[in-house]
Amino acid sequence: MSESYVIVGDGIAGASAAETLRERAPEAEITIITDEGEPLYNRILIKEFAKGKLPEAPISIHDEDWYADHDVDLRLNTVVVDVDVENDVVTTHEGEAIAYDKLLLAIGGTPQQLPVENADADGIHHFWTFQDARGIKESVEAAERGVVVGAGLLGIDFAAICGAQDVEAKYLMRGEAWWRYALSKEGASIMHDAMSERGVEPVFGSGVDRFEVDDDGHVTAAVDPDGNRYECDFAGIAIGLDFNTELVEDTPIEVDNGIVVDEFMRTNVDNVFAAGDITQFTDLILDERGQNGAWGSAKEQGTIAARNMVEYGSEPFVWVSSYSITHFDFPFLSFGHPTLGDDSVEATTGEGEWRRVALKDGRIIGGVLIGDLSPQSAFKKLMREQRYVGDQTDVLMQPGFSVDDLAPQTEP
Ligand SMILES: Cc1cc2nc3c(=O)[nH]c(=O)nc-3n(C[C@H](O)[C@H](O)[C@H](O)COP(=O)(O)OP(=O)(O)OC[C@H]3O[C@@H](n4cnc5c(N)ncnc54)[C@H](O)[C@@H]3O)c2cc1C
Repeated sequence: MSESYVIVGDGIAGASAAETLRERAPEAEITIITDEGEPLYNRILIKEFAKGKLPEAPISIHDEDWYADHDVDLRLNTVVVDVDVENDVVTTHEGEAIAYDKLLLAIGGTPQQLPVENADADGIHHFWTFQDARGIKESVEAAERGVVVGAGLLGIDFAAICGAQDVEAKYLMRGEAWWRYALSKEGASIMHDAMSERGVEPVFGSGVDRFEVDDDGHVTAAVDPDGNRYECDFAGIAIGLDFNTELVEDTPIEVDNGIVVDEFMRTNVDNVFAAGDITQFTDLILDERGQNGAWGSAKEQGTIAARNMVEYGSEPFVWVSSYSITHFDFPFLSFGHPTLGDDSVEATTGEGEWRRVALKDGRIIGGVLIGDLSPQSAFKKLMREQRYVGDQTDVLMQPGFSVDDLAPQTEP
């Protein structure tokens, strides 16, 4: 009898797993279940839709015919509410039991709400799905003043949306720099200037204590802990994700702010795998557990998980993740784990050009490049090779750096 594979989640991790499974196991039964109402689309492009720069059609990746053509049973609008690893069955919200030989959990995360008064008022948005983007677009187009909260990679999308839609906005940040765990004030100032040019003013040392609403329950202002009031009819909140682990919390599957998997994407239950944002994976480069929140990484994890579901141990996940910001007229790239490590070096290498490299035990584990992406492949290569550079970090900061500029390795 052919094997049956069930995939929960039709984001890029789940969908790329389905594609690989179909190639590697032509006879297998494959079911993919998603609580969303549409099949795979490009989640990283929905911000361009909300900015008003892209129509809906090019954002879709798979139409329903793709699943029929690949003999994949697609269940839209279906929530998996239970995983029974003793009997190898998942149960949907409608009570349907779907049995599997092997299960892939590619269930990602859900944006966190601010734990403050009126956080769910009309006009306050979180950003994860295409449906969210439609709501954001409609709301921001009708807005005059905005507030953005969450000084990270998703928060800046809200800032760019306000900028593109001519909404004057305040970007409330806790510290003194956007993405302060990865950028110093010097690097972040390039981002602050770019936001200000688009009518989005960073407000440092701030946050939200409560929102005020009108009689119809629509947001009218955000009030910070010092009592400063920022009038707004649109607010974008991006303060982080809650990983969707509650689905497996009553099972023996190991969870630790994500689903724990080995380098082959397998959980501690032999026939259950996980892929994408949801995983706490064994990072062979970092030499500890890692978690990525990036499209390319999720795609690769889906592919690797599928290969190992067909033949366990066939290929480990070894990947340097990257994440670009394309809202401004200069490039921005973060790679690897720029917020981790025990040391870092940074430099301004030219007008509007800044770089920072994070190191652990003298080896590169991530970084951020602004304005000049030319050392990208050199840094990623050194990271993949886990080469010791701790005694010549100044060389990494030289404009035009290439791997050949390094002296031969002196330490293991
Ligand atoms: C606005 C935005 C912009 C982004 N920009 C970038 C970028 O520029 N570059 C980059 O690299 N990354 C970007 N990302 C991050 C990137 O999109 C994610 O890392 C990637 O999509 C994760 O894929 P995934 O398949 O792991 O999870 P998801 O895409 O989150 O897919 C998980 C799916 O599982 C479904 N699901 C969860 N629980 C259940 C259940 N119980 N039953 C059924 N279905 C369930 C969810 O609804 C969802 O559809 C961005 C993300 C967003 C939201």
